[in-house]
Amino acid sequence: MGQGAALITRRHFVGAATLPLLGCQAPRQIEGGFVGVNPQRGHLLREPQVATQPSTYHQTRVLIVGAGVAGLAAARALRLHGMQDFALLELEDSAGGNSRAGSVAGIACPLGAHYLPVPSDDAPEVQDLLEELGLRRRVSGRWRYDERHLCHSPQERLFFEGAWQEGLLPVHGVGAQTLAQYRKFALLVEQARASAKWTIPASKSPESPVHRALNAITFIAYLEQHGLSDSHLRWYLDYCCRDDYGAGLSLVSAWAGIHYFASRHGFTAPGAEAGDHDGVLTWPEGNGWLTQRLAAPLGERLRTQQVVVRIEVVKHGVEVDAINVHSGRLERWRASRCIVALPVFVAARVVRGAPEALRLRANNIRYAPWLVANLHLDTPLHDRPGAAPSWDNVIYGAAGLGYVDAQHQNLRPVPGATVLTCYRALGDHPDGRRYLQERTWAQWRDEILAELSTAHPDLPGKTTRIDITRYGHAMAIPTPGTEGPASRVPQQLGRLCFAHSDWAGYSVFEEAFTQGHQAASLHR
Ligand SMILES: Cc1cc2nc3c(=O)[nH]c(=O)nc-3n(C[C@H](O)[C@H](O)[C@H](O)COP(=O)(O)OP(=O)(O)OC[C@H]3O[C@@H](n4cnc5c(N)ncnc54)[C@H](O)[C@@H]3O)c2cc1C
Repeated sequence: MGQGAALITRRHFVGAATLPLLGCQAPRQIEGGFVGVNPQRGHLLREPQVATQPSTYHQTRVLIVGAGVAGLAAARALRLHGMQDFALLELEDSAGGNSRAGSVAGIACPLGAHYLPVPSDDAPEVQDLLEELGLRRRVSGRWRYDERHLCHSPQERLFFEGAWQEGLLPVHGVGAQTLAQYRKFALLVEQARASAKWTIPASKSPESPVHRALNAITFIAYLEQHGLSDSHLRWYLDYCCRDDYGAGLSLVSAWAGIHYFASRHGFTAPGAEAGDHDGVLTWPEGNGWLTQRLAAPLGERLRTQQVVVRIEVVKHGVEVDAINVHSGRLERWRASRCIVALPVFVAARVVRGAPEALRLRANNIRYAPWLVANLHLDTPLHDRPGAAPSWDNVIYGAAGLGYVDAQHQNLRPVPGATVLTCYRALGDHPDGRRYLQERTWAQWRDEILAELSTAHPDLPGKTTRIDITRYGHAMAIPTPGTEGPASRVPQQLGRLCFAHSDWAGYSVFEEAFTQGHQAASLHR
């Protein structure tokens, strides 16, 4: 927990945002701080490790290092293969990595990832997990998803020109030229879909000349080439890229920009008939709902608070050293194989004699830092005209990516207290990691409240607490040349196997999960 409580007055926010406040509440205290990720533990990796004798020795057949989605998927696959002799080491207090759950004032909320699109047949491993968890089952020969976990309607809205509109593509009052550009982009997406295969995970598509050409340029260069300069279209596409890839049009590749639409539901211009839209699965605690269930059967095989500082292939196996955060002691593991489910930059640091492929990949990845702020509100917000409160609520032109409402899936008849989870991607910032770490909790609080106040002037007066989670290396940005359907998964090098969304070049649940699953299948 970070910087403790601070007094926020309504006056302060009226001044900061020069916006009228609705209602008439008294000045209030907003508490909170930094939560979720412990930067000191990560920094242990930077310190030179003095040759200390381990205090404890452990032996296991397969050791998985890193309990994010990839590591948890690997553990599940081993279990399903009937392999019990394995262990999983994780640096944080709980498993889940970027897909962990939190809670504020007793209300569950995501600390990171918050949804999973209904997986297509290209992700059978993920479909299988959802079946195991009872989220998907066959009814009269057709697959059905549990309605309780499919995102309820209304799903998305945009605060645009002073009112809320349905959906995130700006439409109300936009001119004919904008609409023509929407149609042109929709056509380009359809052409891309017709000329190449687009899948999630990307590695399930054979690489084609179309992919290669798109992977060579930035998305903004692609838009220029096609004369797509409309500011509304550009804003929307930039938003989509920041939301999925942590950085905008100028950094991500045209492959990534097109993949976002072509691998899912396409791009529907206003007035056109929408294609099949399978919807998304979501939970109050976000994808933490999934990772908690993946971790639950592991029992003592999951060891949290273990900072892995060395992985080395030795004569008859693999040796792994980890600092036990609780005791401060070094513990040594011996295994016959190791699944390295760590971010690539960490893997490159801890794997002794790191293979060339690993070092090259680590040098090529540009990471997007992210900030996630969970705001507890004790009373429902007043709403502006237009579309009704939705699960995902975005403000046009804002630096942040809007918020999701943790209580959206709740079926209570009258709205009450809730937690809003706000996202901010900093991949476009020239020094985003430093910016993220150096700003105080109070500076972030003021900025977030001022931004949300444009749509919700009464929000500062109803917020009781803001918990902020900072991810310095949240996700790999799919820049030109670094990703694509040829993403090599999983990378097996002798007794080591690598599985992490970084290897796909962009970060979503399906990529991480499939890699972990496949790595375990190689190692059983
Ligand atoms: C803010 C945010 C929002 C997101 N939203 C979504 C979303 O809505 N839907 C979606 O599909 N994806 C989302 N993502 C992408 C998300 O990253 C992936 O879905 C997935 O969680 C990645 O899993 P992973 O296993 O590849 O990586 P990670 O989550 O990075 O897992 C790596 C694990 O290794 C551990 N570790 C690191 N170093 C060490 C060490 N030295 N010793 C031991 N353990 C170590 C870490 O603590 C972590 O648990 C989001 C990401 C962020 C940051």
